[in-house]
Amino acid sequence: MVRALMPFVSLNLGDRILKAIQEAGYTEPTPIQAAAIPEILAGHDLIGIAQTGTGKTAAFVLPILARLSGMTSDGGNRQATRALIVAPTRELVVQIEENVRAYAKHLPLRMATIVGGLSERPQIQALRSGVDLVIATPGRLLDLMGQRHTDFSRIGFLVLDEADRMLDMGFLPQIRQIVRALPQKRQTLLFSATLSREIEMLTKEFQRSPKTIQIGRRANPAETVTQFVYEVSQSLKPALLMHLLRDPSFDSVLIFARTKHGADRIARKLEVSGIRTGTLHSNRSQNQRLRALAAFKSGEVRVLVATDIAARGIDVEGISHVINYDFPMHPEDYVHRIGRTGRAQAIGDAISFITPEDHGSLRSLERFIGRGIVRKRAEGFDYQAKPQENTAPRPHQRNSPRAESRGNVPAGQKPRGQGRRWRR
Ligand code: AMP
Repeated sequence: MVRALMPFVSLNLGDRILKAIQEAGYTEPTPIQAAAIPEILAGHDLIGIAQTGTGKTAAFVLPILARLSGMTSDGGNRQATRALIVAPTRELVVQIEENVRAYAKHLPLRMATIVGGLSERPQIQALRSGVDLVIATPGRLLDLMGQRHTDFSRIGFLVLDEADRMLDMGFLPQIRQIVRALPQKRQTLLFSATLSREIEMLTKEFQRSPKTIQIGRRANPAETVTQFVYEVSQSLKPALLMHLLRDPSFDSVLIFARTKHGADRIARKLEVSGIRTGTLHSNRSQNQRLRALAAFKSGEVRVLVATDIAARGIDVEGISHVINYDFPMHPEDYVHRIGRTGRAQAIGDAISFITPEDHGSLRSLERFIGRGIVRKRAEGFDYQAKPQENTAPRPHQRNSPRAESRGNVPAGQKPRGQGRRWRR
């Protein structure tokens, strides 16, 4: 085992964590892991500037687990929580939790996730029974802290994940209140996709002599993703979408809409046309969102339509395409959206529909990412066609029993996952 894991062994994470890493199938640390893990183990505060899909979650979770597992007898206080991870959305919290569960499977550590939209009671019970690690969104966490259900008197690690998005979502006051209630003597790790002036201000406020690790160029989309735009009028967008989805290589497609209602409209059209589609936006309950995500992950639905905020933190293996049905308002959102495909060396396509009104935003985006995006025309699509309300897919797709169960992948086509292209 040790030889196979050579690059991870030198990071000194301990045998039980190495075993979990091996079981996760990782052979070598990603660049952010190789850079961040030694700094965190050495006790430094850290600013991690990294794109999504770089392995940043393991970059902070692994060394924290290693430090926690070596500290189980610190004062014998089993009630007190020792690590707190704060993230902007419920989806991201669930994502981090999955990572922690995988890497901590051989460690006797207990954790709780604290998010809004679900009943408080089990979360309060978990906190009161004593947990080593808490993963939380700011709003609910602050509520439960206010009701004195937390014991953060021994917090040694604080992680602020996707700090840029937490600022965008207006969480600064809550974060300030949370951090004020923590011990001064702690290690603070801050992760963000971009290093803005606001983030620098936050690091000055919360961190001590932090080391900065920047992976990739600032604000540049994941380099593995092939990006292009289709120029199309607003009224032809539904037909163009249907046209693209007839291609079976679009086997796991994440579509972004600007609004919740827009997302619902797109999903309805696709469902009516026989394409199994889920939606992910903030009008849906936490359970509905988790179910939609699980169905998408398992391949039960082929298409997921999401809004920007709900899609934060989505990590689905093998997303084949991201489609910006509506072009994002902010370049940062574009970077996050397309980061959902091409995660950890997989190569995916990111397609944006561009109407004449979007040209200014496209130019701003190209300036932001420092390169042009290829304009294409969709092969075989009739740009002169009259807009149609519901363009049904070809009959063989609708009738295939396999298509029913796998969301319209025609019989004989590669099932989801096998179509995933890997760089190495
Ligand atoms: P993240 O950037 O943390 O969202 O991680 C993106 C994906 O990379 C997740 O699916 C992880 O399971 C995966 N991953 C993390 N570290 C490694 C590694 N060292 N080797 C291969 N995959 C990894």
